[in-house]
Amino acid sequence: MASPAKRARSELETAVGYVHSVSPIKMSKRNVRYFEATLQTGREEYHRLVAFSADKRQAFAQSSLAKRSVKLANVRKTVSYSDPTGYDVLFSSASGLDAVETAPFIWREPPGTTRQQISDVLALGPRQKVSELHAKILADGVVSRVVSVDGTMKELREFGICDRSGQTKLTLWESSILDVKPSKSFKLCHLVTRKSGDLTVLTSTPITTATAIEDVGEPDSLEPLDDSSDTTTTLRGCVSAVYIAQKQRCRRCHKNQEEFPKRCTTHRCEGCKMLQKSPSFQATYSGSLELTCDGEDHSVSLPNSAIWSYATQHLGDSVNEAEVIEEHLLCTGNIEVHVNCSGLTLSIEPLPETKKTTA
Ligand SMILES: [Zn+2]
Repeated sequence: MASPAKRARSELETAVGYVHSVSPIKMSKRNVRYFEATLQTGREEYHRLVAFSADKRQAFAQSSLAKRSVKLANVRKTVSYSDPTGYDVLFSSASGLDAVETAPFIWREPPGTTRQQISDVLALGPRQKVSELHAKILADGVVSRVVSVDGTMKELREFGICDRSGQTKLTLWESSILDVKPSKSFKLCHLVTRKSGDLTVLTSTPITTATAIEDVGEPDSLEPLDDSSDTTTTLRGCVSAVYIAQKQRCRRCHKNQEEFPKRCTTHRCEGCKMLQKSPSFQATYSGSLELTCDGEDHSVSLPNSAIWSYATQHLGDSVNEAEVIEEHLLCTGNIEVHVNCSGLTLSIEPLPETKKTTA
């Protein structure tokens, strides 16, 4: 028997409002099909809606498109992790969706669904979605690190970004690091805010995209970024040993694959169980490299971004097997490696044969 408190929490309720931004069907960790939407329940009140009723997605999408007010019957309100002061609305197969004449408030686009400027972002609190931002990646103040997230080592890189309205910082994770270039402007979609002291900063999500655009300009004066930015060391020498590990990740459910047989044309994802063509899985590399320079051995760690840049530059654009990259690095002769203060390699460049390593 459920305790009275538990019963009260799971009481079924009715919600009236407007449906916004209905997501495609997704797959939960327990392999249940669901979709998300934003439910407007007041003039400026919005809640995350999670619907475990994939067959109702079209009805939700139609209500959203028509900006029609709806009544949701037999829904549950649950604690929200993205909005600690608010609640999420849970729509199950036992819940109902009906059109109603009018809601007692007007339809209004949820904040954060249109393109924002950096000055708008700076005014936001933490954990807010920024769906579109046009910004320039600054050349200075780049910090790279590899951190453990839920037991998996992930690479992050922090950039300074700006537009004409202001500047802040952007942390990109994993493969999104490779999508931007310093001193260039990008249309960035699906970011989320964080607080770094008093400053509102941005970070990428698994669905973040970056597309190159025309220069967006800079504010009248650019503040120097704090001195936490990397000081880099350049090492020149010959590779004496190298190790590169490779992981494949599903682009649909983002699960890292434990087993990924080589030379198979297809693979079934261990997470969402969907059979997909092998190259459609995303490769992530990590590794380390021993470099002999002037009779001294140096060991540096290789994050995904450095290995990807090296492989695409010297081995072509297609996904390469870790062993192929290892052999190329080992046989390439003298190289130049830029390493940051935590021993993380930022870039690897082969040195021309004629250029002798000097003391
Ligand atoms: Zn999957």
